[in-house]
Amino acid sequence: MNYQKSIDLFEKAKNFIPGGVNSPVRAFRAVGGNPLFITRADGPYMYDEDGNEYIELINSWGPMILGHNHPEVREAVIKAMEKGSSFGAPTAKEVEIAELITEMVPSVEKVRMVNSGTEATMSAIRVARGYTGRDKFIKFEGNYHGHGDSFLIAAGSGAITMGNPDSPGVTKGTAQDTLLAPYNDLEFVEHLVEANQGEVAAIILEPVAGNMGCVLPKPGFLEGLRKLCDKEGIVLIFDEVMTGFRLSQGGAQQAFGVIPDMCTLGKIIGGGMPVGAYGGKKEIMEYVSPEGPVYQAGTLSGNPIAMAAGLTMLKQLWDDNSIYSSLEATGNAIVSGIRDSLKSLGLSYTMNHIGSMYSLFFTHEPVVDFKSAQTCDTALFGKYFQAMLRKGIYLAPSQFESLFLSTALKQEHVDRILEANEAALRELV
Ligand SMILES: *Cc1c(COP(=O)(O)O)cnc(C)c1O
Repeated sequence: MNYQKSIDLFEKAKNFIPGGVNSPVRAFRAVGGNPLFITRADGPYMYDEDGNEYIELINSWGPMILGHNHPEVREAVIKAMEKGSSFGAPTAKEVEIAELITEMVPSVEKVRMVNSGTEATMSAIRVARGYTGRDKFIKFEGNYHGHGDSFLIAAGSGAITMGNPDSPGVTKGTAQDTLLAPYNDLEFVEHLVEANQGEVAAIILEPVAGNMGCVLPKPGFLEGLRKLCDKEGIVLIFDEVMTGFRLSQGGAQQAFGVIPDMCTLGKIIGGGMPVGAYGGKKEIMEYVSPEGPVYQAGTLSGNPIAMAAGLTMLKQLWDDNSIYSSLEATGNAIVSGIRDSLKSLGLSYTMNHIGSMYSLFFTHEPVVDFKSAQTCDTALFGKYFQAMLRKGIYLAPSQFESLFLSTALKQEHVDRILEANEAALRELV
C-alpha cells in the first residue's frame, strides 16, 4: 500500500499541531508507522488520502455503532443545518433527547447535555462533591475518564502509551483528592473507604473497562460497589461514555442490572457530533445550576446540529432492539474465529469480549486489571497492528484499547477480518 500523502501531511502537521494530531493516540506512537489521514468513511469502510480502503474496527472510538455516514443521521444533520447552526437558547430537540435518555438509561431521571465525555465526568464529580459536601473520590487504575485534571492519575490508554500516567500540569493539591484502587479489587476499595471515612464523595468507574483494553468486571464487583456506596452515602458513578448505548439500550448498567446514582455518557450519544451528557437521580441532579448551587454551563451545549445527530442515532437504537443481538452475533463470530486461529497456530494469547467490544491481548495471563494488562507484549501488538493494516483492517492503534464493532459489518467483512487476522498472526510466529 502507498501511504505517501499521509506521510507528507503528517510531516507538515507536526509543524503546526503538537505531535501532528489533535488527540495523542491518533499519532500511532504506540504501534509505529505513520498515522493515516482520512478523507471519508462509509458503512464499514474508511478511506485514506492515498485512496486505500480499510474495514473499520474502532468506529471513531465508539460512536459509529451503526457504521459510518449513516443515511438517517446525515439527513437529520443537513435538515437541522438549514435552520441555523447555533442559537444559545433552548430548543424542542433538547427536551426530546433528554426525555428519550431518561427512558433508555435506568439511572437517569434528569440529564444535562455537554460537549464531550471529558466535560461529563468533570461535571459529574463536581455535582457529587456538591451533593455530599465531601472532597475525595475513588477511581480505578487504568480507567480513563477524559482529560480533566483530577482524572489524570493512572489514566488508561493515552496516558499509558505515552508513558507518563501522571501528567505535568496537574497540581499535587488536585491529585491528593483522587484515591486510586486496582480494578476488580472490592476489598481494596472497602479498605480505602474505611481509611477515608466520611470523606469520599464518589466512586467512579468504567463498568466495563475499555481504556486498558477491554476488561470485564468480575462477578460481584459492581454489586459490591453498589452496596458499599449505599452503606457509606457515596455517589456511585458509572462512566458509560464508552459502554452507554453500546452494551444495551441502557448501557452496562442495564446489561449487568446494577444501577448507579449517576452516569456519564458520550461517544454514541452524539451520533458522530461532539456531545456528552451526565445524569442520574433527581435529588442529585437538582443540585445542578440553575436549579441548584453547583455551577456548570456551556455556550454550545445542546447545540441543535449535535442534538439532531444524537437524537436520530438514539431513536434508531431505541426503535430496534434487535441491533444489540445482531452486534453480539457479529462479536461472537469474530471472537470465536480469532480464538480458532490462535488455537490452530498454537498461540495462547488472551481474548476479552463482551457484546460488540473485544481486545486481543498479547499476553498469556488473564487480563483483569491495569497490572495484568501491563504484562502485554506491546511491540508484538505493534507488529500485529501493522500487519492487519497492510491487509486493509484498521484497528485501534494501541494494545490498550477495546475494539468497537458496528452493524455495518456483514458476513463478508467478518470473513475478511478473520482471514487477515490469521495471516497476521502467522507472520508473528
Ligand atoms: C472517551 C472516554 C471519555 C472521554 O470522552 P471525550 O469525549 O474524549 O472527552 C471518558 N470516559 C470514557 C470511559 C471514555 O471512553
